[in-house]
Amino acid sequence: MFLELTEEQRLIQDTAREFAKAELDPIAATLDQEGDRPAFLANLRKLAELGFMGLNVKDEYGGAEAGVVAFSVAITEIARACASTAVTLSVSNMVCEVIQAAGSEAQKEAYIPKICSGEFSAGAFALTETGAGSDPSGVATQAVLDGDQWVLNGSKIFITSAPYAGVFVVWAVTDRSVPKGKGISCFLVEGGTPGLVIGKEEHKTGQHASATNELLFEDCRIPKDALMGKLNDGFRIAVGELAGGRIGIGSLGLGVGLAAIDYATQYSTERAQFGQKISNFQAIQWMIADTYTELEAARLLLMNAAFKKEQGKPFAKEASMAKMYATEAANRACYKAVQMLGGYGYTVDFPVERYARDVRITAIYEGTNEIQRTIISREILRSIV
Ligand SMILES: Cc1cc2nc3c(=O)[nH]c(=O)nc-3n(C[C@H](O)[C@H](O)[C@H](O)COP(=O)(O)OP(=O)(O)OC[C@H]3O[C@@H](n4cnc5c(N)ncnc54)[C@H](O)[C@@H]3O)c2cc1C
Repeated sequence: MFLELTEEQRLIQDTAREFAKAELDPIAATLDQEGDRPAFLANLRKLAELGFMGLNVKDEYGGAEAGVVAFSVAITEIARACASTAVTLSVSNMVCEVIQAAGSEAQKEAYIPKICSGEFSAGAFALTETGAGSDPSGVATQAVLDGDQWVLNGSKIFITSAPYAGVFVVWAVTDRSVPKGKGISCFLVEGGTPGLVIGKEEHKTGQHASATNELLFEDCRIPKDALMGKLNDGFRIAVGELAGGRIGIGSLGLGVGLAAIDYATQYSTERAQFGQKISNFQAIQWMIADTYTELEAARLLLMNAAFKKEQGKPFAKEASMAKMYATEAANRACYKAVQMLGGYGYTVDFPVERYARDVRITAIYEGTNEIQRTIISREILRSIV
């Protein structure tokens, strides 16, 4: 067992850290408070140029082919500065990976290079609907074959990057006669296709720079060969890809948690009360000790899941464990960071309140942590019965 990053992984981590410091840190608060979509998209393009849109994608499709561990450490470094950029990156990587895993050769060649190169600002993963959140088998959007075209009707909610995504991976029902989940297929829909309407943007608690929108399909016609994978195999594709995506969200949570506790720890060495630095108080020291320990445990769980995925081994349970633990540890880290700054921590003059808002959703999206617990316990119980 060797727990150090390889030279290539370290280089990717350093590149991400330097980019985050130089390009993201200076504008993250402005993106959060006022918004600046052109600046946000410009940074995504620069990240694409650095190879960060397809970290675990083959070179022949324009990817960096750097593996899952590299993907995880890169997302963590980006999230230390801007969670909105990190989630966009994580979802775009996931979209590249799902096309790489399930797409035809023509689909891979048509879309992956455009995401990896930055020609598309992002890719979108359109699964959730009003009736299909934790239970994706409840998808009701329909796809009906009409000659040599599929016609999509229905709606999606909470779709990350919808206003600027170049391609959408969309799940829709193709067979209503079979039990729920068995008749769902997966499609690739290009941004700007007539009948694909970008609906209202959510006004969220955090991650303000990342757009989260409703999508409407109104007689949206796509070619017959826009079907990705086998007919009625969409549910399996979604479940498989979400497991990988969870490594991204756990890594994102870890980055935000680290940013928060780094800031608060530094602050504790500068702020004085009762005639001494607050870092002299055991209450503060224990918050520092507990938080760094938990985040280190989160990092190791993430590395374990990423390594297993990279090796082609089963990793769904490990990804759920890492996502659940890392995002909860990160939420605790942000809570404690605000506490360590006292009243200042509750103002926008200091970044920890943003971290606390940005981190909250990581325990919810790409499967709530209750669903992660269900997956973990199911795997464990299955192994002993
Ligand atoms: C900012 C943001 C970005 C998102 N991005 C995307 C995206 O790009 N693409 C996409 O497809 N979706 C996206 N989502 C959707 C997200 O994945 C869902 O919100 C999430 O999976 C939960 O679904 P829900 O909101 O319908 O909650 P519900 O499923 O209604 O859950 C409500 C509560 O019930 C609990 N619950 C539900 N079922 C069970 C169960 N069986 N056992 C125990 N507890 C249960 C949940 O854990 C939760 O606490 C995004 C959401 C947000 C807020």
